[in-house]
Amino acid sequence: MKRAYKLRAYPTRRQEARAARLLADHCDLYNAALAERREAWRMRRVSVSYGDQSAQLKAIRAADPGGQGRHSFTAQQQTLRRLNATFAAYLKRARGAKGKSRRVGYPRFKAYQRFDQVLFVAGDGARWDPAEAGRWAHASFQAVGRVKVGQHRPVLGRVKTLQLKRESRRWYVIVVTDIEPVPLPATGRSVGVDLGVARFLTTSDGKVVANPRFLDAAQERIVDLQRRSARARPGSGNRRRLRRALAKEWRKVRNQRRDFHHKTAHGLVDTCDMLALEDLRVAAMTTSAAGTVEAPGRSVAAKAGLNRSILDAGWGQFTSILVAKAESAGRRVVLVRPAFTSIDCHACGARCTRPRQDTVVCPVHGDLDADLNGARNIATRAGLGSGQAPAA
Ligand SMILES: [Zn+2]
Repeated sequence: MKRAYKLRAYPTRRQEARAARLLADHCDLYNAALAERREAWRMRRVSVSYGDQSAQLKAIRAADPGGQGRHSFTAQQQTLRRLNATFAAYLKRARGAKGKSRRVGYPRFKAYQRFDQVLFVAGDGARWDPAEAGRWAHASFQAVGRVKVGQHRPVLGRVKTLQLKRESRRWYVIVVTDIEPVPLPATGRSVGVDLGVARFLTTSDGKVVANPRFLDAAQERIVDLQRRSARARPGSGNRRRLRRALAKEWRKVRNQRRDFHHKTAHGLVDTCDMLALEDLRVAAMTTSAAGTVEAPGRSVAAKAGLNRSILDAGWGQFTSILVAKAESAGRRVVLVRPAFTSIDCHACGARCTRPRQDTVVCPVHGDLDADLNGARNIATRAGLGSGQAPAA
């Protein structure tokens, strides 16, 4: 089972310069390999494979000892694999588009600024030293050095790969490990979980997790910064400062939200054998098409929309975290298709009316808590019975 940890890295000036050089060299390799594939196809209608390109690495390295020759061989192979994956995806799209008028974009050369990560195989040009006794963790990369890493939670499992990644002016290390599941003792509790706007979640046996307060505070600050930056003169230093403050605010919300998701998921996995919830991972992606949270389209700029978008962005992430935690604890998670779970009565299945956000009214059973009703429907749909607490 794979587990990924994204951790902030703090290279020194000199390490940062070498890391930038590493990315540039890998970018050159990527573009050269892409050029070879393009030319071979254009001139001779020949497809070049990953194997063909990997076989040339030795000669490329020997011819350029001060450049490509300095880098990890296996990391270079990973970069060639990445190009290969890009091509495979392109060919698949192209086959899908055959006979249709849709045009499919051919893989493009990457600009240095856009080429932002290199993947290393652990133990081969890269090494992970976990944080110990209050000291920093470190990740070592060939041609870069031993870089300080902030490790905010324990890295579990055997380290398989290490990715060095640049995001605007920050650096990250993504540690991917392989972990053996450790089953937790059975609890006898199985619940449906409804994720909502007014409350973060409601379980089918009536437990509620409220939305964390930091969201409200962050929302006020974000709305304020957005308003001020919209009013600031384009291109001015003030506007730039406000934009940076806004990005920082979003980063903070994202981090707080991720911590909250981990804690909440942990609580559920510890106390439940089986969990059912709506699969909101895809839904979250489609809503973001109208404008991402960071760069809202007109439709999500309103305050109500913003509140929702802060929460929305969380559901998919929470679901993924919950699924991963459940897997490593030997718990079962059932994901059900999201549809009508909140407006059909859980007891009799009749279509309810919804006069208020928090209440549905069944023609037979009367007023029901909308979230609780939703959670029970989810439990039923997943085959967990009603998911209510067993009668004492
Ligand atoms: Zn009913």
